[in-house]
Amino acid sequence: MNRIVTLCGSTRFREHFDALNEMFSMNGDLVFSCGVWDGSMSSEIRDMLNSVHKEKIRLSDVVFVINVGGYISESVKSDIKYAKKLGKEINYLEKLEDHKVECDKCNLTMNKRIDEYGGIVCECECGYVKIGLTQPNGSEEYNWSTESFDDI
Ligand SMILES: [Zn+2]
Repeated sequence: MNRIVTLCGSTRFREHFDALNEMFSMNGDLVFSCGVWDGSMSSEIRDMLNSVHKEKIRLSDVVFVINVGGYISESVKSDIKYAKKLGKEINYLEKLEDHKVECDKCNLTMNKRIDEYGGIVCECECGYVKIGLTQPNGSEEYNWSTESFDDI
């Protein structure tokens, strides 16, 4: 049975989109990818493209998040939130285990999980907790905050 897979991620990861499109296609899956790579457009066009992308997610069985370096943009975060609301299966290119985070207090390696909006939550045995907000510049460093994504 063919699955329908929607690729989500920043357009800066075009090469990853192409490689994953090929990988899923070779697996017999139906793939929805990004169709427009140049981000310089009017806000009307951007809104239209965003709503078409949401429609792709709605029709999908699986959402695959291309989070190179752990980067998840605000727009992709909104895709994840939408996919979760619809109960879609969500997979990530880079697993949390790929990113080792040390506790600021005791230097132990922290336990990590992705919260319901795609944020990265790290918890230490000592009780210290921090939440990662991915950097808008796509840097591999997380920008840590104690804010929760619950407000999104
Ligand atoms: Zn600690």
